[in-house]
Amino acid sequence: MRKTYKYRIYANREVLGKAERWLFLCRRLYNTALEQRITIYRQNKGPISCYSQMRQLPELKASFPEYREVGSQVLQEVLERLEKAYQGFFRRVKNGNGKAGFPRFKGRDRYDSFTLKQCGWRLDGRYLSIRNIGRFKLKLSRQIAGDIKTVTIRREATGKWYACFSCANVPEQILEKSTNSIGIDVGIKSFLMDSEGNNVDNPAYFRQSEKLLRRRQRRLCRRAKGSNHRGKARLLVAKAHEKVKNQRNDFLHKVANQYIAQYGVIFIEDLNVKGMVSNRHLSKSIADSSWGKFFELLNWKAEEAAREVIRIPRFEPSSKTCSECGAINQELKLSDRQWVCKSCGVLHDRDYNAAKNICRVGHTLQAITKEDALSVA
Ligand SMILES: [Zn+2]
Repeated sequence: MRKTYKYRIYANREVLGKAERWLFLCRRLYNTALEQRITIYRQNKGPISCYSQMRQLPELKASFPEYREVGSQVLQEVLERLEKAYQGFFRRVKNGNGKAGFPRFKGRDRYDSFTLKQCGWRLDGRYLSIRNIGRFKLKLSRQIAGDIKTVTIRREATGKWYACFSCANVPEQILEKSTNSIGIDVGIKSFLMDSEGNNVDNPAYFRQSEKLLRRRQRRLCRRAKGSNHRGKARLLVAKAHEKVKNQRNDFLHKVANQYIAQYGVIFIEDLNVKGMVSNRHLSKSIADSSWGKFFELLNWKAEEAAREVIRIPRFEPSSKTCSECGAINQELKLSDRQWVCKSCGVLHDRDYNAAKNICRVGHTLQAITKEDALSVA
């Protein structure tokens, strides 16, 4: 299994200055190589390959000695990025979907990382050394597993630096087998409700961070373009964005981990996540991405732990069906938090009832699929 580990890194001013310099040199190479491709194309000399551009690197180093300090593999990877950008462009042209988007020249803020492959770096406990740059200290929150294939150094909009280690052969973490199953309904009022009646609320700190973000965005709008104040205001917005993103991701990881640890099979409803943002208790920017991201994490973690996440197709609105007797309450409104079934008299909590239905339908589907598998065999 492949996996990427990301850590915040720290270094002194001199080291960071050199890393900035590498970013600048890589960006300049990227833009130059793009320009070369365009020129050659215009002169009808046919396309130029990534490989032939790589062969010109020694020449580049001879004419511009500053490139000697940057590792050859780092420079090759810049040209590979350009190649990927081209391939993506041609693929989009071929598929004809939307704007194809020709590869662009990269401005200062649009080129924020460089990648090292097998050589030119060394990881020694909490310290990452890069040849010709210096030593970074890692905030090692969890141990790296597997074989490190690449190391990417990244400067984010907030000015913070990160190292991403892309690893192959990461051992799978198989949890103890579990026959427990559960249905999850993503909520209107809370974040989710499961078929055991557990309710997971949206953390209160979401709203605070969101307020902060909005305040800072308003301030940015008031600042004059090109002014010093505007630069500072933009940095503060980037920091608030990052905070919202980190808090949301922490929360989603935590919730997904809980379910993966406890249940062998998790049923979720196949919702059109984009279409269902009617959550008035959550600000839009968080709600928009949360459920989609949550399902993605759940799937990914399930695969890692040999668990099953089963997406059940959207059925007769799960909240309107009585989980006790199957009667459908057509009069249920979005604002009804509770309702009494007219045919069996059971009092339902809206989300709990929906989660129970998801679990029940999931079991039925599972049984049908098993029968199918048996009859085929
Ligand atoms: Zn009923």
